[in-house]
Amino acid sequence: MDDTARPTRIRVDLDAITHNFRALQAHAGVPAMAIIKANAYGHGLAPVGRHLQAIGAGQLGVAFLEEGLALRQAGVTLPILVMGGIFGPQAAALIANDLEITVSSLDKLRQVEAAAESLGRQATIHLKIDTGMERIGVHGYSAGPLVEAAARSRWCRLKGVYSHLACADDPDSAMTARQLERFAEACGHFGRIGAPMPLRHLANSGGVLHFPDTALDLVRPGLALYGVLPDPASRDTVGLRPALSLVSQVVYFKVVRAGNPVSYGATWTPPADTRVVTVPIGYGDGFPRALSSRGQALIRGQRHPIVGRICMDQFMVDIGPDGTAYNEDEVVLIGRQGEQLIRCEDVAVAAGTIPYEILVGLNSRIPREYLGGA
Ligand SMILES: *Cc1c(COP(=O)(O)O)cnc(C)c1O
Repeated sequence: MDDTARPTRIRVDLDAITHNFRALQAHAGVPAMAIIKANAYGHGLAPVGRHLQAIGAGQLGVAFLEEGLALRQAGVTLPILVMGGIFGPQAAALIANDLEITVSSLDKLRQVEAAAESLGRQATIHLKIDTGMERIGVHGYSAGPLVEAAARSRWCRLKGVYSHLACADDPDSAMTARQLERFAEACGHFGRIGAPMPLRHLANSGGVLHFPDTALDLVRPGLALYGVLPDPASRDTVGLRPALSLVSQVVYFKVVRAGNPVSYGATWTPPADTRVVTVPIGYGDGFPRALSSRGQALIRGQRHPIVGRICMDQFMVDIGPDGTAYNEDEVVLIGRQGEQLIRCEDVAVAAGTIPYEILVGLNSRIPREYLGGA
């Protein structure tokens, strides 16, 4: 760490990502498309993309054109699928940068074909079937014409056909079996018209963890790649390792006298004299304000409560009347310190949200530090 950097940082353990990537592929029994949208779930798009390429990943998935372009600029040459619904005017840039396109309707197919023809270069596409999200994608039962047009397209190379699971985070949900059945029905269109079957992919993290039948030809884990479980109902059937830690350092120590409230709105007041430290990270970094008087911090191997409202750039922790802490002591907000551990999943529950939102919310104001890797 250089002397001028703020003391708050995200540490990304690239070896944990390697472990999770390999464990997920081994568990699924098929290759994985590593999903690295939204700044690789807060872990850093370019460093994670380059790392996955270095460890031999076969393909990557992102949400938007811009994310694909950033990976190309970072020197990532792997196949990259852009999973979001495309806007017509972006088709040419997707093709020119060798990004694979999600085609979710006949209209979109025509737009992609027109762009490909005018560039004189084939587009690589994956068809998106809706089996139960009611988001983008053609319903399986009316996918026949799209499948046929895509299979016969001169300007599109049909590489994949996919859908997305709505309830796979919960191993007990019956929705996944229904979606798998609908997806199989939609894939039946290829056989009926005598077209070769493209790569079929359906499973997100929850699918890989809980529903082995959804693995098909390729799986698309995102959150699990970073060692985090999607939902309190999820089970770690794979042996994941969390890759991200969020750490800071104590910047101030004081004694707060009984009856004197702490922070904006005076929402928390110590009943007796206590020792309070200030930690220099806040909701301006994406550390959720919902953790006000609900979150925890590890200092000197002990777990202590965040007290009062989280401010934009700092918050306070009550270390108790006999607590010891010094300026510059390490503060762990996600991760391990000594015997204690705060999981991203715990932070999400305390904040009343899901781990996805905690990770992707950690913004670019926090420097990232990479450990391990090549
Ligand atoms: C985000 C996303 C994934 C990965 O989901 P996780 O729950 O993070 O594993 C897979 N497929 C699609 C289409 C997605 O949008």
